[in-house]
Amino acid sequence: MPMIINGIGVSRGTAQGRVHMLKRSGGNIAKRELAPEQVEPELARLGEAIEQARTQLTEVRTLVPETMSQEVQSFLDAHLLMLDDALLTEMPSEMVRNQRCNIEWALEQTRVQLVDEFMKMDDAYLRTRCNDVSHVIKKVLENLLDDAPAMQGRDLTGCVVVADDLTPADTVVIQSQNVAAFVTQFGSSMSHTAILARSLGIPAVVGIHDAAELLRDDETLLVDGHGGTLLCAGSDWLIDHYRSYQRREQEHMESLLLLRDEPAVTRDEEAITLKCNIDLVEEVSSVHEVRASGVGLYRTEFFYLNREAQAGADEQYEVYRDLVAALDGKPLTIRTLDLGADKEFDPDYQGAIAPNPALGLRAIRRSLQDKQKFSAQLQAILRASAHGPVQMMLPMLTNDSELRQCRKLIEQCMRELADAGQEYDPEIKIGGMIEVPAAALAAAAFASRLDFLSIGTNDLIQYTLAIDRVDDQVNYLFDPLHPAVLFLIHHTIHAGRRAGTPVSLCGEMASNPRLTRLLVGLGLREFSTHPNILLEIKRIIRESSAARLREQAERILHCEHPDQIHGLVENLNRA
Ligand code: PEP
Ligand code: MG
Repeated sequence: MPMIINGIGVSRGTAQGRVHMLKRSGGNIAKRELAPEQVEPELARLGEAIEQARTQLTEVRTLVPETMSQEVQSFLDAHLLMLDDALLTEMPSEMVRNQRCNIEWALEQTRVQLVDEFMKMDDAYLRTRCNDVSHVIKKVLENLLDDAPAMQGRDLTGCVVVADDLTPADTVVIQSQNVAAFVTQFGSSMSHTAILARSLGIPAVVGIHDAAELLRDDETLLVDGHGGTLLCAGSDWLIDHYRSYQRREQEHMESLLLLRDEPAVTRDEEAITLKCNIDLVEEVSSVHEVRASGVGLYRTEFFYLNREAQAGADEQYEVYRDLVAALDGKPLTIRTLDLGADKEFDPDYQGAIAPNPALGLRAIRRSLQDKQKFSAQLQAILRASAHGPVQMMLPMLTNDSELRQCRKLIEQCMRELADAGQEYDPEIKIGGMIEVPAAALAAAAFASRLDFLSIGTNDLIQYTLAIDRVDDQVNYLFDPLHPAVLFLIHHTIHAGRRAGTPVSLCGEMASNPRLTRLLVGLGLREFSTHPNILLEIKRIIRESSAARLREQAERILHCEHPDQIHGLVENLNRA
Protein backbone atom coordinates (compact mmCIF):
# COMPACT_ATOMS: atom_id res chain seq x y z
CA MET A 1 0.00 0.00 0.00
CA PRO A 2 1.35 3.48 -0.83
CA MET A 3 2.51 4.97 2.41
CA ILE A 4 4.54 7.93 3.63
CA ILE A 5 5.83 7.70 7.20
CA ASN A 6 7.37 10.63 9.00
CA GLY A 7 10.00 10.42 11.71
CA ILE A 8 13.08 12.36 12.70
CA GLY A 9 15.81 12.59 10.07
CA VAL A 10 19.12 12.37 11.93
CA SER A 11 21.62 11.64 9.18
CA ARG A 12 21.36 13.21 5.74
CA GLY A 13 21.18 11.42 2.43
CA THR A 14 18.59 9.30 0.66
CA ALA A 15 18.72 5.61 -0.04
CA GLN A 16 16.44 2.96 -1.40
CA GLY A 17 16.69 -0.67 -0.40
CA ARG A 18 15.04 -3.87 0.81
CA VAL A 19 13.85 -3.82 4.39
CA HIS A 20 15.70 -6.08 6.79
CA MET A 21 13.85 -6.21 10.10
CA LEU A 22 16.28 -6.72 12.94
CA LYS A 23 14.32 -8.68 15.50
CA ARG A 24 15.24 -9.19 19.07
CA SER A 25 13.07 -11.54 21.07
CA GLY A 26 13.90 -9.91 24.45
CA GLY A 27 11.47 -7.59 26.16
CA ASN A 28 9.22 -10.00 28.04
CA ILE A 29 11.66 -11.73 30.29
CA ALA A 30 9.93 -14.08 32.71
CA LYS A 31 10.98 -14.39 36.33
CA ARG A 32 12.08 -17.89 37.34
CA GLU A 33 12.74 -19.14 40.83
CA LEU A 34 16.09 -20.81 41.49
CA ALA A 35 17.02 -23.55 43.88
CA PRO A 36 19.53 -22.32 46.53
CA GLU A 37 22.40 -24.23 44.88
CA GLN A 38 21.65 -22.54 41.52
CA VAL A 39 22.35 -19.01 42.81
CA GLU A 40 26.16 -18.98 42.50
CA PRO A 41 26.21 -20.57 39.01
CA GLU A 42 23.59 -18.00 37.96
CA LEU A 43 25.86 -15.18 39.12
CA ALA A 44 28.75 -16.72 37.22
CA ARG A 45 26.62 -16.57 34.06
CA LEU A 46 26.44 -12.79 34.44
CA GLY A 47 30.24 -12.56 34.59
CA GLU A 48 30.53 -14.69 31.47
CA ALA A 49 27.95 -12.64 29.57
CA ILE A 50 29.79 -9.42 30.47
CA GLU A 51 33.08 -10.94 29.29
CA GLN A 52 31.41 -12.03 26.06
CA ALA A 53 30.07 -8.49 25.54
CA ARG A 54 33.57 -7.12 26.13
CA THR A 55 35.03 -9.42 23.46
CA GLN A 56 32.24 -8.50 21.02
CA LEU A 57 32.65 -4.75 21.54
CA THR A 58 36.42 -5.00 21.25
CA GLU A 59 35.97 -6.83 17.95
CA VAL A 60 33.56 -4.16 16.70
CA ARG A 61 36.06 -1.48 17.61
CA THR A 62 38.43 -2.94 15.02
CA LEU A 63 35.77 -2.31 12.37
CA VAL A 64 35.73 1.45 13.00
CA PRO A 65 37.35 3.16 9.99
CA GLU A 66 40.70 4.66 10.94
CA THR A 67 39.61 7.99 9.57
CA MET A 68 37.00 8.35 12.34
CA SER A 69 37.99 10.82 15.02
CA GLN A 70 38.92 9.90 18.55
CA GLU A 71 35.65 11.42 19.77
CA VAL A 72 33.55 9.03 17.74
CA GLN A 73 35.67 6.02 18.66
CA SER A 74 35.19 7.03 22.26
CA PHE A 75 31.47 6.18 22.04
CA LEU A 76 32.45 2.52 21.81
CA ASP A 77 35.11 2.90 24.46
CA ALA A 78 32.49 4.39 26.75
CA HIS A 79 30.38 1.25 26.36
CA LEU A 80 33.41 -0.90 27.12
CA LEU A 81 34.02 1.17 30.26
CA MET A 82 30.39 0.80 31.34
CA LEU A 83 30.87 -2.96 31.33
CA ASP A 84 33.27 -2.44 34.26
CA ASP A 85 30.75 -0.37 36.20
CA ALA A 86 29.83 -1.94 39.52
CA LEU A 87 26.18 -0.91 38.98
CA LEU A 88 25.95 -3.44 36.20
CA THR A 89 26.75 -6.33 38.51
CA GLU A 90 25.84 -5.19 42.02
CA MET A 91 22.14 -4.45 41.56
CA PRO A 92 21.20 -7.61 39.64
CA SER A 93 23.47 -9.85 41.75
CA GLU A 94 21.78 -8.60 44.89
CA MET A 95 18.36 -9.39 43.39
CA VAL A 96 19.49 -12.88 42.43
CA ARG A 97 20.78 -13.52 45.95
CA ASN A 98 17.81 -11.99 47.79
CA GLN A 99 15.01 -13.19 45.58
CA ARG A 100 16.62 -16.35 44.18
CA CYS A 101 15.57 -15.30 40.68
CA ASN A 102 17.10 -15.72 37.23
CA ILE A 103 19.79 -13.23 36.24
CA GLU A 104 18.08 -12.20 32.96
CA TRP A 105 15.05 -10.98 34.88
CA ALA A 106 17.19 -9.20 37.49
CA LEU A 107 19.27 -7.50 34.80
CA GLU A 108 16.18 -6.33 32.92
CA GLN A 109 14.77 -4.88 36.18
CA THR A 110 18.09 -3.06 36.69
CA ARG A 111 17.90 -1.67 33.14
CA VAL A 112 14.34 -0.41 33.61
CA GLN A 113 15.21 1.18 36.95
CA LEU A 114 18.33 2.93 35.66
CA VAL A 115 16.58 4.19 32.52
CA ASP A 116 13.78 5.49 34.71
CA GLU A 117 16.25 7.40 36.89
CA PHE A 118 17.98 8.92 33.87
CA MET A 119 14.66 9.95 32.34
CA LYS A 120 13.77 11.89 35.49
CA MET A 121 16.89 14.06 35.14
CA ASP A 122 16.28 17.69 34.30
CA ASP A 123 19.04 17.80 31.79
CA ALA A 124 18.07 16.97 28.20
CA TYR A 125 21.55 15.75 27.32
CA LEU A 126 21.80 13.39 30.28
CA ARG A 127 18.33 12.05 29.47
CA THR A 128 19.69 11.06 26.06
CA ARG A 129 22.59 9.27 27.73
CA CYS A 130 20.15 6.75 29.18
CA ASN A 131 20.32 5.13 25.72
CA ASP A 132 23.91 4.19 26.40
CA VAL A 133 23.08 2.52 29.71
CA SER A 134 20.22 0.67 28.07
CA HIS A 135 22.37 -0.39 25.10
CA VAL A 136 25.12 -1.83 27.28
CA ILE A 137 22.71 -3.81 29.47
CA LYS A 138 20.84 -5.08 26.40
CA LYS A 139 24.12 -6.30 24.93
CA VAL A 140 24.76 -8.37 28.07
CA LEU A 141 21.15 -9.59 28.03
CA GLU A 142 21.50 -10.71 24.42
CA ASN A 143 24.38 -12.91 25.49
CA LEU A 144 22.47 -14.33 28.45
CA LEU A 145 19.47 -15.07 26.27
CA ASP A 146 21.60 -16.13 23.32
CA ASP A 147 19.55 -13.62 21.40
CA ALA A 148 21.98 -11.50 19.38
CA PRO A 149 20.23 -10.06 16.32
CA ALA A 150 21.30 -11.70 13.10
CA MET A 151 23.69 -9.14 11.68
CA GLN A 152 27.23 -10.34 11.59
CA GLY A 153 27.86 -12.88 8.86
CA ARG A 154 24.75 -11.85 6.90
CA ASP A 155 24.69 -10.08 3.60
CA LEU A 156 22.99 -6.79 4.36
CA THR A 157 24.44 -5.00 1.32
CA GLY A 158 21.98 -2.39 0.09
CA CYS A 159 19.39 -3.21 2.80
CA VAL A 160 17.51 -0.74 4.94
CA VAL A 161 17.91 -2.07 8.47
CA VAL A 162 14.80 -1.52 10.59
CA ALA A 163 15.18 -2.04 14.34
CA ASP A 164 13.65 -0.98 17.62
CA ASP A 165 16.97 0.63 18.47
CA LEU A 166 20.59 0.34 17.39
CA THR A 167 23.63 0.67 19.59
CA PRO A 168 26.72 2.53 18.34
CA ALA A 169 28.36 -0.90 17.98
CA ASP A 170 25.43 -2.18 15.85
CA THR A 171 25.83 0.93 13.70
CA VAL A 172 29.50 0.21 13.06
CA VAL A 173 28.69 -3.43 12.21
CA ILE A 174 25.93 -2.57 9.73
CA GLN A 175 28.08 0.09 8.11
CA SER A 176 30.84 -2.47 7.57
CA GLN A 177 28.20 -4.55 5.77
CA ASN A 178 27.32 -1.70 3.39
CA VAL A 179 23.73 -1.16 4.43
CA ALA A 180 21.88 1.54 2.51
CA ALA A 181 20.23 3.21 5.52
CA PHE A 182 18.66 2.47 8.88
CA VAL A 183 15.38 3.21 10.59
CA THR A 184 14.69 2.85 14.30
CA GLN A 185 11.63 3.08 16.50
CA PHE A 186 13.47 4.94 19.24
CA GLY A 187 16.38 7.36 19.39
CA SER A 188 17.09 11.05 19.01
CA SER A 189 19.33 13.29 16.95
CA MET A 190 21.61 13.75 19.98
CA SER A 191 22.15 10.02 20.52
CA HIS A 192 25.57 8.58 19.85
CA THR A 193 24.06 6.27 17.28
CA ALA A 194 22.81 9.31 15.36
CA ILE A 195 26.15 11.10 15.65
CA LEU A 196 27.89 7.95 14.43
CA ALA A 197 25.47 7.59 11.52
CA ARG A 198 26.27 11.16 10.46
CA SER A 199 29.99 10.53 10.73
CA LEU A 200 29.77 7.23 8.86
CA GLY A 201 27.49 8.79 6.24
CA ILE A 202 24.56 6.36 6.69
CA PRO A 203 21.16 7.96 5.98
CA ALA A 204 19.03 7.41 9.08
CA VAL A 205 15.54 8.13 10.38
CA VAL A 206 14.60 7.54 14.02
CA GLY A 207 11.41 7.84 16.06
CA ILE A 208 9.20 5.63 13.82
CA HIS A 209 7.37 4.18 16.80
CA ASP A 210 5.23 1.70 14.89
CA ALA A 211 7.93 0.61 12.42
CA ALA A 212 7.50 -3.06 13.40
CA GLU A 213 3.78 -2.96 12.48
CA LEU A 214 4.06 -0.74 9.40
CA LEU A 215 7.04 -2.29 7.64
CA ARG A 216 7.73 -5.80 6.40
CA ASP A 217 10.85 -7.75 5.52
CA ASP A 218 11.94 -7.44 1.89
CA GLU A 219 9.60 -4.62 0.89
CA THR A 220 11.31 -1.72 -0.87
CA LEU A 221 11.73 1.42 1.19
CA LEU A 222 13.01 4.85 0.29
CA VAL A 223 14.63 6.65 3.21
CA ASP A 224 15.17 10.41 3.28
CA GLY A 225 17.55 10.95 6.20
CA HIS A 226 17.32 14.73 5.92
CA GLY A 227 13.56 15.22 5.86
CA GLY A 228 12.92 12.20 8.12
CA THR A 229 10.55 10.62 5.56
CA LEU A 230 10.05 6.98 4.56
CA LEU A 231 8.28 5.98 1.35
CA CYS A 232 7.04 2.42 1.24
CA ALA A 233 7.17 0.15 -1.76
CA GLY A 234 4.07 -0.46 -3.83
CA SER A 235 3.78 3.27 -4.26
CA ASP A 236 5.76 3.68 -7.49
CA TRP A 237 3.99 6.91 -8.41
CA LEU A 238 4.78 8.31 -4.98
CA ILE A 239 8.42 7.31 -5.24
CA ASP A 240 8.54 8.92 -8.71
CA HIS A 241 6.95 12.07 -7.34
CA TYR A 242 9.36 12.13 -4.44
CA ARG A 243 12.31 11.49 -6.69
CA SER A 244 11.39 14.43 -8.91
CA TYR A 245 11.13 16.62 -5.81
CA GLN A 246 14.54 15.36 -4.79
CA ARG A 247 15.92 16.02 -8.27
CA ARG A 248 14.78 19.63 -7.99
CA GLU A 249 16.43 19.84 -4.57
CA GLN A 250 19.56 18.27 -6.02
CA GLU A 251 19.60 20.77 -8.89
CA HIS A 252 19.23 23.58 -6.38
CA MET A 253 22.12 22.13 -4.34
CA GLU A 254 24.25 21.85 -7.46
CA SER A 255 23.51 25.46 -8.41
CA LEU A 256 24.57 26.46 -4.90
CA LEU A 257 27.79 24.50 -5.23
CA LEU A 258 28.67 26.72 -8.19
CA LEU A 259 28.77 29.60 -5.70
CA ARG A 260 31.45 28.01 -3.55
CA ASP A 261 34.29 30.00 -5.05
CA GLU A 262 32.30 33.18 -5.60
CA PRO A 263 32.75 35.97 -3.05
CA ALA A 264 30.04 36.67 -0.49
CA VAL A 265 29.33 40.25 -1.56
CA THR A 266 26.09 42.11 -2.02
CA ARG A 267 25.19 43.69 -5.36
CA ASP A 268 26.46 47.02 -4.03
CA GLU A 269 29.83 45.49 -3.12
CA GLU A 270 29.42 45.07 0.66
CA ALA A 271 31.62 42.12 1.65
CA ILE A 272 30.18 39.67 4.18
CA THR A 273 32.28 37.07 5.99
CA LEU A 274 30.72 33.60 6.15
CA LYS A 275 32.06 31.15 8.71
CA CYS A 276 30.75 27.87 10.12
CA ASN A 277 29.65 26.57 13.50
CA ILE A 278 31.03 23.16 14.35
CA ASP A 279 30.63 20.84 17.34
CA LEU A 280 32.78 17.91 16.25
CA VAL A 281 36.13 17.59 14.56
CA GLU A 282 34.50 15.56 11.74
CA GLU A 283 32.67 18.66 10.57
CA VAL A 284 35.85 20.37 9.37
CA SER A 285 35.49 18.67 5.99
CA SER A 286 32.16 20.48 5.49
CA VAL A 287 33.86 23.79 6.29
CA HIS A 288 36.22 23.18 3.36
CA GLU A 289 33.46 21.82 1.15
CA VAL A 290 31.50 25.07 1.30
CA ARG A 291 34.70 27.17 1.23
CA ALA A 292 33.77 28.96 4.45
CA SER A 293 36.21 31.63 5.67
CA GLY A 294 36.80 29.68 8.86
CA VAL A 295 35.07 28.50 12.01
CA GLY A 296 33.14 31.21 13.84
CA LEU A 297 32.09 28.93 16.70
CA TYR A 298 33.63 25.67 17.85
CA ARG A 299 31.59 24.45 20.80
CA THR A 300 34.11 22.68 23.02
CA GLU A 301 31.48 21.08 25.25
CA PHE A 302 30.96 18.20 22.81
CA PHE A 303 34.52 17.11 23.44
CA TYR A 304 33.32 16.07 26.90
CA LEU A 305 30.95 13.41 25.62
CA ASN A 306 31.37 10.23 27.61
CA ARG A 307 34.54 11.24 29.34
CA GLU A 308 35.39 9.31 32.45
CA ALA A 309 37.21 12.34 33.75
CA GLN A 310 37.92 15.87 32.68
CA ALA A 311 40.33 15.87 29.77
CA GLY A 312 43.72 17.25 30.75
CA ALA A 313 45.36 20.26 29.11
CA ASP A 314 47.48 18.01 26.86
CA GLU A 315 44.53 16.08 25.50
CA GLN A 316 42.55 19.26 24.84
CA TYR A 317 45.58 20.84 23.19
CA GLU A 318 45.96 17.85 20.85
CA VAL A 319 42.34 18.11 19.70
CA TYR A 320 42.59 21.87 19.10
CA ARG A 321 45.97 21.52 17.38
CA ASP A 322 44.57 18.84 15.04
CA LEU A 323 41.62 21.12 14.27
CA VAL A 324 43.94 24.01 13.46
CA ALA A 325 45.92 21.72 11.15
CA ALA A 326 42.75 20.38 9.49
CA LEU A 327 41.56 23.94 8.86
CA ASP A 328 44.72 24.58 6.90
CA GLY A 329 45.11 28.29 7.62
CA LYS A 330 41.43 29.18 8.05
CA PRO A 331 40.81 30.87 11.41
CA LEU A 332 39.35 28.81 14.25
CA THR A 333 37.24 30.44 16.96
CA ILE A 334 37.37 28.22 20.03
CA ARG A 335 34.66 28.96 22.55
CA THR A 336 35.64 28.14 26.10
CA LEU A 337 33.39 25.68 27.88
CA ASP A 338 29.70 26.53 27.96
CA LEU A 339 28.74 23.88 30.50
CA GLY A 340 25.56 24.02 32.53
CA ALA A 341 21.85 24.44 31.79
CA ASP A 342 21.08 22.52 28.58
CA LYS A 343 24.69 21.40 28.14
CA GLU A 344 25.81 19.33 31.11
CA PHE A 345 28.61 17.08 29.93
CA ASP A 346 31.11 17.17 32.74
CA PRO A 347 31.17 13.76 34.44
CA ASP A 348 33.14 15.23 37.35
CA TYR A 349 30.65 17.98 38.13
CA GLN A 350 29.81 17.88 41.83
CA GLY A 351 27.71 21.04 41.99
CA ALA A 352 24.07 20.92 42.92
CA ILE A 353 21.48 21.13 40.14
CA ALA A 354 20.42 24.75 40.42
CA PRO A 355 16.75 25.65 40.82
CA ASN A 356 17.02 27.52 37.53
CA PRO A 357 20.09 26.24 35.69
CA ALA A 358 19.83 28.66 32.75
CA LEU A 359 20.19 31.54 35.21
CA GLY A 360 22.70 29.75 37.38
CA LEU A 361 26.31 28.66 37.20
CA ARG A 362 26.72 28.11 33.49
CA ALA A 363 29.24 29.06 30.83
CA ILE A 364 31.83 31.63 31.92
CA ARG A 365 30.39 31.73 35.45
CA ARG A 366 31.00 28.02 35.81
CA SER A 367 34.53 28.25 34.32
CA LEU A 368 35.47 31.05 36.70
CA GLN A 369 34.33 28.93 39.65
CA ASP A 370 36.89 26.28 38.82
CA LYS A 371 39.95 28.23 37.78
CA GLN A 372 42.17 25.15 37.65
CA LYS A 373 40.06 23.43 34.99
CA PHE A 374 39.51 26.71 33.19
CA SER A 375 43.26 27.39 33.09
CA ALA A 376 43.83 23.93 31.62
CA GLN A 377 41.50 24.82 28.76
CA LEU A 378 42.98 28.31 28.32
CA GLN A 379 46.48 26.83 28.13
CA ALA A 380 45.34 24.25 25.58
CA ILE A 381 43.82 26.99 23.40
CA LEU A 382 46.91 29.17 23.75
CA ARG A 383 49.24 26.30 22.79
CA ALA A 384 47.08 25.51 19.76
CA SER A 385 47.40 29.17 18.69
CA ALA A 386 51.09 28.52 17.97
CA HIS A 387 50.03 26.32 15.04
CA GLY A 388 47.74 28.66 13.11
CA PRO A 389 45.08 31.35 13.41
CA VAL A 390 43.11 30.76 16.58
CA GLN A 391 40.84 33.13 18.46
CA MET A 392 39.34 32.56 21.87
CA MET A 393 35.70 33.28 22.63
CA LEU A 394 34.16 33.64 26.11
CA PRO A 395 30.50 32.57 26.42
CA MET A 396 27.75 34.41 28.27
CA LEU A 397 29.68 37.40 29.54
CA THR A 398 27.51 39.62 31.71
CA ASN A 399 29.80 42.06 33.42
CA ASP A 400 33.22 43.60 33.25
CA SER A 401 34.47 41.79 36.32
CA GLU A 402 34.14 38.43 34.52
CA LEU A 403 36.14 39.78 31.64
CA ARG A 404 38.83 41.16 33.94
CA GLN A 405 39.13 37.80 35.71
CA CYS A 406 39.40 36.01 32.37
CA ARG A 407 42.11 38.36 31.12
CA LYS A 408 44.06 37.91 34.34
CA LEU A 409 43.89 34.13 34.00
CA ILE A 410 44.86 34.27 30.32
CA GLU A 411 47.88 36.42 31.17
CA GLN A 412 48.86 34.05 33.94
CA CYS A 413 48.54 31.08 31.55
CA MET A 414 50.72 32.91 29.02
CA ARG A 415 53.39 33.48 31.66
CA GLU A 416 53.31 29.83 32.71
CA LEU A 417 53.61 28.67 29.12
CA ALA A 418 56.48 31.06 28.48
CA ASP A 419 58.27 29.79 31.62
CA ALA A 420 57.80 26.23 30.41
CA GLY A 421 59.18 27.14 27.00
CA GLN A 422 55.83 26.42 25.29
CA GLU A 423 54.85 28.45 22.25
CA TYR A 424 51.64 30.43 21.82
CA ASP A 425 50.39 33.43 19.91
CA PRO A 426 50.87 36.42 22.27
CA GLU A 427 48.54 38.46 20.03
CA ILE A 428 45.71 35.90 20.18
CA LYS A 429 42.35 37.63 19.73
CA ILE A 430 39.97 37.40 22.68
CA GLY A 431 36.28 37.84 21.94
CA GLY A 432 33.06 37.54 23.87
CA MET A 433 29.60 36.25 23.20
CA ILE A 434 26.74 38.65 23.58
CA GLU A 435 23.99 36.38 24.87
CA VAL A 436 22.58 38.21 27.86
CA PRO A 437 20.46 41.36 27.38
CA ALA A 438 22.67 43.21 29.88
CA ALA A 439 25.72 42.47 27.75
CA ALA A 440 23.92 43.61 24.61
CA LEU A 441 22.89 46.87 26.28
CA ALA A 442 26.46 47.32 27.53
CA ALA A 443 27.90 46.22 24.17
CA ALA A 444 29.89 49.47 23.83
CA ALA A 445 31.87 48.63 26.96
CA PHE A 446 32.50 45.06 25.84
CA ALA A 447 33.40 46.20 22.33
CA SER A 448 36.05 48.54 23.70
CA ARG A 449 37.65 45.78 25.79
CA LEU A 450 37.44 42.83 23.39
CA ASP A 451 38.89 42.04 19.97
CA PHE A 452 35.56 40.81 18.59
CA LEU A 453 31.97 40.15 19.63
CA SER A 454 29.68 37.34 18.57
CA ILE A 455 25.95 37.51 19.13
CA GLY A 456 24.53 34.24 20.49
CA THR A 457 20.91 34.73 19.59
CA ASN A 458 19.79 31.34 20.91
CA ASP A 459 20.49 32.54 24.41
CA LEU A 460 19.89 36.24 23.73
CA ILE A 461 16.31 35.42 22.72
CA GLN A 462 15.88 33.05 25.66
CA TYR A 463 16.98 35.66 28.18
CA THR A 464 15.34 38.68 26.54
CA LEU A 465 11.96 37.02 26.24
CA ALA A 466 12.29 35.01 29.48
CA ILE A 467 11.56 31.69 27.82
CA ASP A 468 13.51 28.51 28.43
CA ARG A 469 14.87 27.50 25.02
CA VAL A 470 14.44 23.78 25.76
CA ASP A 471 10.93 24.00 27.21
CA ASP A 472 8.41 22.84 24.58
CA GLN A 473 5.58 24.51 26.44
CA VAL A 474 6.87 28.01 25.78
CA ASN A 475 8.46 27.34 22.43
CA TYR A 476 5.77 29.31 20.65
CA LEU A 477 7.06 32.47 22.34
CA PHE A 478 10.58 32.05 20.93
CA ASP A 479 10.44 34.89 18.42
CA PRO A 480 13.66 36.13 16.77
CA LEU A 481 11.63 38.99 15.28
CA HIS A 482 10.47 40.36 18.61
CA PRO A 483 11.20 44.14 18.55
CA ALA A 484 13.30 43.85 21.73
CA VAL A 485 15.52 41.18 20.15
CA LEU A 486 15.98 43.19 16.95
CA PHE A 487 16.80 46.28 19.00
CA LEU A 488 19.50 44.41 20.96
CA ILE A 489 21.05 42.90 17.82
CA HIS A 490 21.12 46.29 16.06
CA HIS A 491 22.47 47.98 19.18
CA THR A 492 25.30 45.43 19.52
CA ILE A 493 26.28 45.60 15.84
CA HIS A 494 26.50 49.37 15.96
CA ALA A 495 28.34 49.46 19.28
CA GLY A 496 30.92 47.19 17.66
CA ARG A 497 31.10 49.36 14.58
CA ARG A 498 31.66 52.54 16.60
CA ALA A 499 34.48 50.86 18.53
CA GLY A 500 35.99 49.33 15.37
CA THR A 501 35.37 45.84 16.82
CA PRO A 502 34.07 43.17 14.44
CA VAL A 503 30.69 41.68 15.34
CA SER A 504 29.59 38.25 14.20
CA LEU A 505 26.33 36.38 14.81
CA CYS A 506 26.55 32.65 15.52
CA GLY A 507 23.10 31.78 16.90
CA GLU A 508 20.50 29.93 14.81
CA MET A 509 19.29 33.23 13.36
CA ALA A 510 22.43 33.30 11.20
CA SER A 511 21.44 29.95 9.69
CA ASN A 512 17.87 30.98 8.89
CA PRO A 513 17.71 32.14 5.23
CA ARG A 514 14.48 33.98 6.01
CA LEU A 515 16.45 36.33 8.28
CA THR A 516 19.58 36.84 6.17
CA ARG A 517 18.44 40.03 4.47
CA LEU A 518 17.14 41.51 7.69
CA LEU A 519 20.47 40.86 9.42
CA VAL A 520 22.43 42.42 6.56
CA GLY A 521 20.04 45.38 6.76
CA LEU A 522 20.72 45.66 10.50
CA GLY A 523 24.43 46.01 9.64
CA LEU A 524 25.70 42.46 10.25
CA ARG A 525 28.83 41.72 8.23
CA GLU A 526 29.84 38.34 9.65
CA PHE A 527 27.64 35.24 9.88
CA SER A 528 28.60 31.93 11.44
CA THR A 529 26.19 29.28 10.16
CA HIS A 530 25.67 25.54 9.90
CA PRO A 531 27.89 24.34 7.06
CA ASN A 532 24.93 22.88 5.16
CA ILE A 533 23.13 26.22 4.86
CA LEU A 534 26.11 28.52 4.23
CA LEU A 535 25.83 28.51 0.43
CA GLU A 536 22.13 29.31 0.57
CA ILE A 537 22.95 32.31 2.77
CA LYS A 538 25.64 33.32 0.28
CA ARG A 539 23.16 33.11 -2.59
CA ILE A 540 20.77 35.45 -0.78
CA ILE A 541 23.56 37.90 0.04
CA ARG A 542 24.73 37.98 -3.58
CA GLU A 543 21.19 38.78 -4.72
CA SER A 544 20.72 41.67 -2.25
CA SER A 545 21.59 45.33 -2.07
CA ALA A 546 22.90 46.29 1.38
CA ALA A 547 21.85 49.95 1.01
CA ARG A 548 18.24 49.00 0.25
CA LEU A 549 18.17 46.45 3.05
CA ARG A 550 19.43 49.10 5.48
CA GLU A 551 16.48 51.36 4.66
CA GLN A 552 13.99 48.52 5.01
CA ALA A 553 15.57 47.32 8.26
CA GLU A 554 15.30 50.85 9.65
CA ARG A 555 11.57 50.71 9.00
CA ILE A 556 11.32 47.35 10.73
CA LEU A 557 13.23 48.66 13.74
CA HIS A 558 10.67 51.42 14.17
CA CYS A 559 7.80 49.02 14.00
CA GLU A 560 6.16 47.94 17.24
CA HIS A 561 3.65 45.36 16.06
CA PRO A 562 4.87 41.80 15.56
CA ASP A 563 2.42 41.18 12.67
CA GLN A 564 3.70 44.25 10.88
CA ILE A 565 7.31 43.19 11.47
CA HIS A 566 6.63 39.73 10.04
CA GLY A 567 4.91 41.32 7.02
CA LEU A 568 7.81 43.72 6.39
CA VAL A 569 10.33 40.87 6.62
CA GLU A 570 8.29 38.94 4.03
CA ASN A 571 8.42 42.01 1.75
CA LEU A 572 12.13 42.36 2.25
CA ASN A 573 12.63 38.74 1.22
CA ARG A 574 10.41 39.12 -1.82
CA ALA A 575 12.11 42.20 -3.22
C1 PEP B 1 23.75 30.96 21.17
O1 PEP B 1 23.36 31.02 22.35
O2 PEP B 1 23.20 31.57 20.23
C2 PEP B 1 24.91 30.13 20.84
C3 PEP B 1 25.43 30.13 19.63
O3 PEP B 1 25.41 29.33 21.83
P1 PEP B 1 24.75 27.92 22.24
O4 PEP B 1 23.64 27.62 21.28
O5 PEP B 1 25.85 26.92 22.20
O6 PEP B 1 24.28 28.20 23.63
MG1 MG C 1 24.64 30.31 23.92
